[in-house]
Amino acid sequence: MARAAVPGRLKAPLTWQAARLVGLRDETPSARTLVFDVPGWSGHLAGQHVDVRLTAEDGYSTQRSYSLASAPDGDRFELTVQRVPDGEVSPYLADVMEIGDLVEIRGPVGGWFVWRPAEIRPVLLVGGGSGIAPLMAMIRTRRSLGSHTPFRLIYSVRTPEDRYYASELRTPQPGDGGLEVTHLYTRHTPEGWPRPAKRLQLADLQTHGWPPEFEPVCFVCGPTGFVETAAAQLVALGHDPRQIRTERFGPTGG
Ligand SMILES: Cc1cc2nc3c(=O)[nH]c(=O)nc-3n(C[C@H](O)[C@H](O)[C@H](O)COP(=O)(O)OP(=O)(O)OC[C@H]3O[C@@H](n4cnc5c(N)ncnc54)[C@H](O)[C@@H]3O)c2cc1C
Repeated sequence: MARAAVPGRLKAPLTWQAARLVGLRDETPSARTLVFDVPGWSGHLAGQHVDVRLTAEDGYSTQRSYSLASAPDGDRFELTVQRVPDGEVSPYLADVMEIGDLVEIRGPVGGWFVWRPAEIRPVLLVGGGSGIAPLMAMIRTRRSLGSHTPFRLIYSVRTPEDRYYASELRTPQPGDGGLEVTHLYTRHTPEGWPRPAKRLQLADLQTHGWPPEFEPVCFVCGPTGFVETAAAQLVALGHDPRQIRTERFGPTGG
């Protein structure tokens, strides 16, 4: 039987490509967005990630995965990197890199944790900390395509200072009609905030998510513990486990 053609933009090039840093933006005191230019970049789907490889002068090299945070935009894409204290790679990306510096990237990678704009089912995005990055790519892709698919985002962070993309999510942008955003805080809240600081609860998903009868597709991303808790809560609420797509960023940080 003939195999279906794989769209070019889903196919990760097997080779590493040079990516030049062309822009920087602080998101929080410990995270920043890096804008890269990759001549001939194949484009990406919202939710995919790239592998980033760093090589030292003595030839030692190491690589990590980072989600694409931007909507497809020609040869450019954005990553948002949270500095992990004592980490090998993230402090270099989040603190040291300067405009004009090069890294190697490989990708885009991933075909499951992906929002395809042709899907018209409601979308629930549940993010913890830096796990907002691929969810933001979905929001930005929806906006850039003028999609009317209903989106709800539930975003859990420790404090108001830890919110990524704060002004973009606070002020609805043109094309954001039908996007509802809820922030949850786990350590301290803005003054007068109605919900006390605590971790994600079943009631948060019940109040701010979609009812299971709406058959939403759910994307959950963040630290491992956060993702496992949120996914279990969604199942407990009656969501179809097959429609819960998860991406785990790391072992700690809940
Ligand atoms: C598919 C995928 C997409 C990802 N996308 C992003 C992204 O968009 N932005 C982003 O900032 N990170 C992202 N990550 C996490 C990233 O790949 C690295 O794991 C992270 O940057 C830490 O790397 P490091 O070299 O600095 O730390 P390491 O040297 O690998 O680890 C140092 C210490 O920190 C712990 N640790 C490792 N990773 C984490 C973590 N994520 N949280 C808390 N503790 C950790 C380790 O157990 C170790 O004790 C993604 C991971 C995956 C698998």
